[in-house]
Amino acid sequence: MRIDLHTHSSASDGTDTPAALVREAKAAGLDVVALTDHDATSGWAEAQRAADEVGITLLPGLEISTKLHHRGVHLLAYLPDPTHGPLVEVLDRILAGRTERTPAIVSALRGHGIDITEDDVHREAGESVAAGRPHVADALVRLGVVGDRTEAFATLLSPGQPGYVNRYAPALEEMVRIVVAAGGVPVIAHPWGRRGGTVLTEDVLASLRAIGLAGIEVDHQDHPPEVRTRLRGIAADLDLVVTGSSDHHGLGKVDHDLGVNTTEPEQYERLLSLARRPLGG
Ligand code: AMP
Ligand code: FE
Ligand code: FE
Ligand code: ZN
Repeated sequence: MRIDLHTHSSASDGTDTPAALVREAKAAGLDVVALTDHDATSGWAEAQRAADEVGITLLPGLEISTKLHHRGVHLLAYLPDPTHGPLVEVLDRILAGRTERTPAIVSALRGHGIDITEDDVHREAGESVAAGRPHVADALVRLGVVGDRTEAFATLLSPGQPGYVNRYAPALEEMVRIVVAAGGVPVIAHPWGRRGGTVLTEDVLASLRAIGLAGIEVDHQDHPPEVRTRLRGIAADLDLVVTGSSDHHGLGKVDHDLGVNTTEPEQYERLLSLARRPLGG
């Protein structure tokens, strides 16, 4: 069984449509793929139809933007009820924050002498409901300002740089509680990736475990081998589910091919057992 529990489609900042993503997952030899778009469940229906067609298991999920001590933390949520009131409300608020941020980023970049417009960004965002910096990055690539998304993040779009604008995100602890109340299974994405490392200590993870955190994503491209080893130790201490995944974004992220990291079947089964509703139910 090959299981990849974290991917993005064009419903957020991936470059494949949900159906194309699922077909690619099948072609890559995966048995299970989770669709976990940023702050959005809008890709689920199309992905499910494609999964039924090609014969692969789709696990519906999402990756929610949260904050802990002013640092961004991404929370994966599997199988939550997408109609659960508090979940719908918080996602609406996050998506509104994303929508409001786009003009602010454009205006900051224009102030920096870059001739970019909101339309340029909307064109790249296409059907995505989660407008984000990756779409601004794509617009900057098309305008010839930078060579790729990585360069856009490295020079213009990250905190402290000319095009960075903050946006609303709920507190991590609040979000864990909401996901659990929605019957879903919360798992912290790339806990020590890029810039998360200092806030998500073992003590913090233990207190999140006490309110329902189910697992941590250990095998992720942002984690070098020694980080994976330490996180695996913490997961064992705290009895957390260990997941592994690609965090595939289509052409939007290099070195994140489908199946590049995978989740052990026993861990996947344990994760499913923690959801209120069965897969496919
Ligand atoms: P936002 O959702 O607007 O806050 O932007 C964050 C998203 O940008 C993350 O989910 C990543 O998918 C993407 N991202 C962050 N850094 C990079 C990078 N260096 N290259 C490509 N994509 C990135
Ligand atoms: Fe992303
Ligand atoms: Fe993430
Ligand atoms: Zn992701």
